[in-house]
Amino acid sequence: MDRRNFIHRSAFAGALAWTGALSKAHASSEHVPKNVFDVAIIGAGVFGSWTAYFLKSAGQRVLLLDAYGPSNDRASSGGETRIIRMGYGPDDIYTRWAQRALPRWKELFSRTGTPLFHRTGVLWICNPTDRYCLQMEKVLTETGVKFQKLSRLDLRERYPQIAVDDEAIGIFEPESGVLMARRAVQALVENAVQMGIEYRTAAAVSPAGSGRLDALQMRDGTSVSAGTYVFACGPWLPKLFPHLLGSRIIPTRQEVFFFGIPAGDLRYSPPNLPTWIILSDEYYGMPDLENRGFKIAYDAHGVTVDPDTVERVASTEGLASARAYLARRFPGLKDAPVMESRVCQYENTSNGDFLIDRHPDFSNVWLVGGGSGHGFKHGPSLGEYVANRVLGKGVAEPRFSLETKAEFQKRTVY
Ligand SMILES: Cc1cc2nc3c(=O)[nH]c(=O)nc-3n(C[C@H](O)[C@H](O)[C@H](O)COP(=O)(O)OP(=O)(O)OC[C@H]3O[C@@H](n4cnc5c(N)ncnc54)[C@H](O)[C@@H]3O)c2cc1C
Repeated sequence: MDRRNFIHRSAFAGALAWTGALSKAHASSEHVPKNVFDVAIIGAGVFGSWTAYFLKSAGQRVLLLDAYGPSNDRASSGGETRIIRMGYGPDDIYTRWAQRALPRWKELFSRTGTPLFHRTGVLWICNPTDRYCLQMEKVLTETGVKFQKLSRLDLRERYPQIAVDDEAIGIFEPESGVLMARRAVQALVENAVQMGIEYRTAAAVSPAGSGRLDALQMRDGTSVSAGTYVFACGPWLPKLFPHLLGSRIIPTRQEVFFFGIPAGDLRYSPPNLPTWIILSDEYYGMPDLENRGFKIAYDAHGVTVDPDTVERVASTEGLASARAYLARRFPGLKDAPVMESRVCQYENTSNGDFLIDRHPDFSNVWLVGGGSGHGFKHGPSLGEYVANRVLGKGVAEPRFSLETKAEFQKRTVY
């Protein structure tokens, strides 16, 4: 295989244009000797790609497959931007994972020459009696995360463009910010291919039977053989494993809007405006990054969707709500035009904890997913954890087990 034939550099440094046609041609033309791979990873979103990277770093022969291409427009990792913040209320495991992940993201970007992290800072706006914020403050202190507490007066002085409630307080994480998600995963896959993993565009079929999985069938009639299979298929996991995960991982429709900022107005750009999260409103957003506009999204779960077939056109109701919210919290943008909208999906477990466990019916199949609207930032920590588990190292975290995934939705991790 000549990788140059299927990897095309785009005009942006380090970004990739994954041409489906070329990589499909590659998939169908190459003969694969049996068991040439130690591990086959199905899904080149953020979870699968970091897992591939760490397994390769540990000396494994790795195949990474994706039905639509790395960080494609249907994937949960295919959005332009994702927040990386340390605050997780009482859930210190995710604070620690985010702390561990940020330097690894930065290392990736310096290794690949792709500056895809914006240190905007992350501002939490909370009610002072909110338990989540009180617990978060405690965890941030215990874990040594830098943060500043802001009074209502501080908030009004520093961020006059936000209409905060009278009792509001702020917690500001100055080192946190935004990852350019889609391009970051594509840079990672390109880097992993340079390290020697093999990438293919191909759609895996659900494995049948039980015991040890010898070969995995693709929809195009080919098959792949590996010692271990890691299904990192995000919101597709319930489609691939309907009996096991059909009611344990629920993909929900999430709409995102980018509003145009007024000409020459720097109030909505960093450093004047950080990334912000207003907990009680369930809204969050980002300042104008790379001149794409002011991003805003509603974090409450939308209706259940099928990631293959959902139409990615934002609803008039979603836009009306986002606009009403802007008028309330960012009155200077109340008449701002929409520049762009996106429809993505969360893949929710019952409480928001990830799923990382062995398939109960197959000794060599792993299930990895359940990012639940907050997984992206953790890619490096998760990839390292999964690689260790696959290699029989490390200690299993009970929160990630299949048995803790209930068949109802009661979110506790935000
Ligand atoms: C609107 C929105 C905002 C978010 N904001 C944040 C945020 O600010 N911060 C944060 O940390 N997280 C955020 N998240 C969550 C985060 O994006 C996800 O948790 C994360 O991207 C999940 O990655 P994944 O690799 O599990 O899944 P995906 O990225 O969906 O990857 C799964 C891959 O599997 C492939 N696949 C599926 N079936 C097959 C098959 N049969 N054969 C081969 N390949 C297959 C798909 O094509 C896909 O590429 C947000 C999510 C959304 C939707």
